[in-house]
Amino acid sequence: MLGLMQNRPLLISGLIAHAERHHGDGEIVSRRVEGDIHRYQWRDVARRSRQVANALDAMNLLFSDRVATLAWNGYRHLELYFGVSGSGRVLHTINPRLHPEQIAWIANHAEDQVLCFDMTFLPLVQAVHAKCSTIKQYVALCEADKLPQDSGIPNLVSYESWIGGQSPEYEWPAFDENSASSMCYTSGTTGNPKAALYSHRSTILHAYAAALPDVMGLSARDAVLPVVPMFHVNAWGIPYSAALTGCKLVFPGPALDGKSVYELVEAEQVTYAAGVPTVWQMLLGHLKPNGLRFSSLKRTVIGGSACPPAMIDAFREDYGVEVLHAWGMTEMSPLGTLCTLKNKHLTMSPEDQMKIRLKQGRAIYGVDLKIVGDAGEELPWDGKTFGDLYVKGPWVVREYFKGEGGDPLVNGWFPTGDVATIDPDGYMQITDRSKDVIKSGGEWISSIDIENIAMAHPAVQMAACVGMRHPKWDERPVVAVVKRPGMEVTREELLKFYEGKIAKWQIPDDVVFVETIPLGATGKMLKTRLREQLKDYKLPTA
Ligand code: ADP
Repeated sequence: MLGLMQNRPLLISGLIAHAERHHGDGEIVSRRVEGDIHRYQWRDVARRSRQVANALDAMNLLFSDRVATLAWNGYRHLELYFGVSGSGRVLHTINPRLHPEQIAWIANHAEDQVLCFDMTFLPLVQAVHAKCSTIKQYVALCEADKLPQDSGIPNLVSYESWIGGQSPEYEWPAFDENSASSMCYTSGTTGNPKAALYSHRSTILHAYAAALPDVMGLSARDAVLPVVPMFHVNAWGIPYSAALTGCKLVFPGPALDGKSVYELVEAEQVTYAAGVPTVWQMLLGHLKPNGLRFSSLKRTVIGGSACPPAMIDAFREDYGVEVLHAWGMTEMSPLGTLCTLKNKHLTMSPEDQMKIRLKQGRAIYGVDLKIVGDAGEELPWDGKTFGDLYVKGPWVVREYFKGEGGDPLVNGWFPTGDVATIDPDGYMQITDRSKDVIKSGGEWISSIDIENIAMAHPAVQMAACVGMRHPKWDERPVVAVVKRPGMEVTREELLKFYEGKIAKWQIPDDVVFVETIPLGATGKMLKTRLREQLKDYKLPTA
């Protein structure tokens, strides 16, 4: 017997229709590429996303055709999120920080038909358009009078004239909720990038889950600042959850420096912000020397790489902002776990609570986790045993776009490439990427632990730990450190700083001071490149 409830497909168009009807006057504020502040409401997003849909129909774009973006977080990008997916096309957000060759490769692989770009990326588009063989239409996200005359880019229109002549009336089509809605390529640190292809269903389920109190906890009372880019896993799904909850959205545009972010938080009375640790590092770096405080910010979600304990402390202790540590990946839409305490933890000492907060958190309903050993056997949840982290759930990839890389699943589970522990309460903690694991004398050393300790030193701005070949121990950890401007610390002081904080044999053998640590397109440390930089390095102990 089937249930007798309405079988309405879960479609992204439903989100924007809801936002327009039930919180049409909710505000969307954007810092534009031009530098000024633009503000309008959810009902305007809905109207203009219908114009986007009409513009795509006018081009005779087919169902599931790909429309690419190279854009910052802003209102026009938001309209594309709903107009492209809502009309049955697939939104392909491209990370502009990728190498131009890689961008052209991705656009061809995705067979993008349209490319919409912020004017910041005009030189990039000029450099790659000749190599992008499938793109029929280029759309510059600007007013008609800002369109460059002799850009050399064929079939270029301004966004405002592209949608301007279109009717704001449009009936969102109904189709199978399993249809593709958007896609995002992984950064491809090994081999060519592969795309996760999200569906309407996976996106809506993820949007519901993300809004839950123990996840992002978004509500109609929040003003949310997604600093995490809309080109990186759909800004962790915030645009969708925002339409679902009716929160105010505040977009930072290209201005991600500490001063700009702080000013926007204060001017728009942001209550909630989300981003990667490197961005928050810049924000904290601006607050401290200027003696600034937040008047509205209550919570911030930090993920994408391990959040250093010193950062959680600074937000909590110095600024009264709660930090929610989150973990996920492109292949998971991206949310997998989020760290919030359970009822039984509330009576614990602040130090014991902190130990939990450092972890990447508990599985969100919809995602299941397990850790496995070398033979694929499931490992115990004792908070100590390390293993390869596997996940499954309705917003986790089943396979990559065009079947690239073959079947990624192992007995229905997706191997994340992360190494983690899970404790008896289900809190997962990442210790490493599997390719970055340091194996010393048959024991694993967590590079994240070593980095976190270094980052707690006042003179350390950034730290990256890698394993170096050792004749006796196989590998020994070495930590590369960038000093804070104007501050000093010696190798000996830093090595001493580790004493008592981890087991003696886990203390790095050496500290190497460097100018910068190479970062990838999503702001994560590129340890492969760091290892190349250190290829002539010799361990003092070897
Ligand atoms: P990429 O394309 O670089 O894989 P993703 O955003 O998909 O970009 O990266 C996912 C990876 O980022 C995870 O598998 C994990 O290694 C790392 N990561 C994400 N969040 C955290 C976190 N909170 N702590 C530690 N590592 C994290």
